[in-house]
Amino acid sequence: MPKVLVIFGTRPEAIKLFPVIRALAAIPGLTVRTCVTAQHRGLLDQVLAIADLVPDIDLDLMEPGQTLDRLTARLLVGLGDVMDVEKPDLVIVQGDTATAMTGALAAYYHKVPVAHVEAGLRSGDIYHPWPEEVNRRIVAPIAALHFAPTDTAAEALRRETIAEDTIHVTGNTVIDALHWTAARVAADPSLAAGLDAIASRFAGKRIILVTTHRRENFGDGMAAIARAIGRIAERDDVAVLFPVHPNPNVVSVMNAILGDRANVARIEPLDYPHFVRALGMADIVLTDSGGVQEEAPALGKPVLVMRETTERPEGVAAGTAKLIGTDEDRIVSDIFTLLDTRGIWPDQPRASSPPLSATARFESQRLAG
Ligand code: UDP
Repeated sequence: MPKVLVIFGTRPEAIKLFPVIRALAAIPGLTVRTCVTAQHRGLLDQVLAIADLVPDIDLDLMEPGQTLDRLTARLLVGLGDVMDVEKPDLVIVQGDTATAMTGALAAYYHKVPVAHVEAGLRSGDIYHPWPEEVNRRIVAPIAALHFAPTDTAAEALRRETIAEDTIHVTGNTVIDALHWTAARVAADPSLAAGLDAIASRFAGKRIILVTTHRRENFGDGMAAIARAIGRIAERDDVAVLFPVHPNPNVVSVMNAILGDRANVARIEPLDYPHFVRALGMADIVLTDSGGVQEEAPALGKPVLVMRETTERPEGVAAGTAKLIGTDEDRIVSDIFTLLDTRGIWPDQPRASSPPLSATARFESQRLAG
């Protein structure tokens, strides 16, 4: 029986892969094994719980204060051992993390074909996002199958001379995850009831949902973001909902600069149902996250992206997202402009995603054949 090994290690990978794993698991005659590296332990576990996923292999590799080089070395050795034991027919990796990059490399060293979900995202700048731009470029020449979320991503792969018949435009699986989770929350609001108190506290205010965690923004950028949030929250008509990423480079700056403010709810990272509800509650989303940039437009929310470049140009081109960098005055003025001229982004278009079954069907045909 053909065996697929799905490898992931972080929250966004888990969110974007759980719909794929569910679809693969429904294919008769296919053995699906999951391996988590737990590159980010706590945030990953939140997603595993909500998606009812129990990994077959858990490398539990996260170390406090891990550096990229130490993490990469540990991942490669750990995943190489997994290849020896599992002997998969196909390895699936997602996106651009150290786990995706080393998962592809370990598979290559063991001559196992690799399928890359969310292939072809490129910013064109190897330091934005860092180190993700290089991680995903390393996966490209290794992968035998490239599942590009958009035509733009497929085009980027063609420019890198990736063979046309290995590229498949599938849509973005985060949209499948989002819709699946939103439907579950709609059917059972208790899944996201932890936000009830904040919803009543902020009733009548315009809510700005903030997330930030990018390495490029650590230091001066993070301090500027904290000051900007403080200034925005001075307005009486505004409330900031801010699930703070646990990275100490984020937490310490927010503690030092933002402190406690009436109009700011600084809270622990939300599990996915709560985060989907938070997106629904938001009037504006302010983020440096990749995934949130994709989800917000799908729910019709304007998103201001605190980055210099993006590998997701579709939202910017469609007018649902705006790149604003991390300059304090720019963040404040762009938020105020959106708040004060409600119609600036009228009728946000809704992103769509082809049915996931297209990907799953393709996999099953390939493996059966
Ligand atoms: N997310 C979440 N809880 C939070 C913040 C974000 O579940 O408190 C989800 C969000 O919906 C998105 C993913 O985490 O799907 C994005 O992860 P992150 O921003 O860490 O990584 P990136 O997408 O930038 O790689």
